[in-house]
Amino acid sequence: MADTSIEWATAVWNPTTGCDRVSPGCDKCYALTMARRLKAMGSAKYQVDGHPATSGSGFGLTLHPDTLTDPLGWRRPERIFVNSMSDLFHARVPLAFVQQVFEVMAATPQHTYMVLTKRAGRFPRVAPRLSWPSNLWVGVSVENADYLGRVDELRAVPAAVRFISAEPLLGPLDGLDLAGIDWLIAGGESGPGARPMSLAWVRDLLAMCDRCDTAPFVKQLGAAWARQHGADSKGGDWTHWPADLRVRTYPAPVGAVAR
Ligand code: SF4
Repeated sequence: MADTSIEWATAVWNPTTGCDRVSPGCDKCYALTMARRLKAMGSAKYQVDGHPATSGSGFGLTLHPDTLTDPLGWRRPERIFVNSMSDLFHARVPLAFVQQVFEVMAATPQHTYMVLTKRAGRFPRVAPRLSWPSNLWVGVSVENADYLGRVDELRAVPAAVRFISAEPLLGPLDGLDLAGIDWLIAGGESGPGARPMSLAWVRDLLAMCDRCDTAPFVKQLGAAWARQHGADSKGGDWTHWPADLRVRTYPAPVGAVAR
């Protein structure tokens, strides 16, 4: 089992790897950078190159049917981030494969699965042909207001928990409708050349969450804030953040969450 440093998950599972950039939030895709390194290290899952214009070395979309049964062997309940190195709803992941992933989730109710996508436009076509397990949380990434339409697509899917990942947050999300959205993660961009995130945008989101009973989770303040405050690229020890931004809550139901 692959452990993860992602704050809100306890494990990762990558039945597919590789992807293609689709919107500005992808510009500094950590998975693309990591795939290049993993290919150079000889990692078997990262030997297919993607198109240089949208993807990169070791980051070609690849299915890994041999990993489909991995979670069956994990006895301890885990909070599993599905496809930290890909996008399950990429157009080249066949519906039959997505169905198999969903079947594994349904067969392992001890785990909580989190699927995050930027390809909510595929939901209307595939959602009616999937059997949605009760331990699946589905989220969409929204980096700026140009992509609020992903939230409307998310609202229409029958996921047990629906969430938004506003990370990297690249602009204010004026007009965001949180009706039917259980959880919102917000965070700035990290790494070299990170684009700045205004704390005012995060505060606006926290106020929206408050009005709509959506659980907020502020993941990181980003490299720009960190530079100003002499912290590490993720914003350092969160106990040093402004008090009103130290918010890390999870939505109900939390019963299946491991820790
Ligand atoms: S959708 Fe996600 S995994 Fe794919 S390129 Fe964009 S940031 Fe990377």
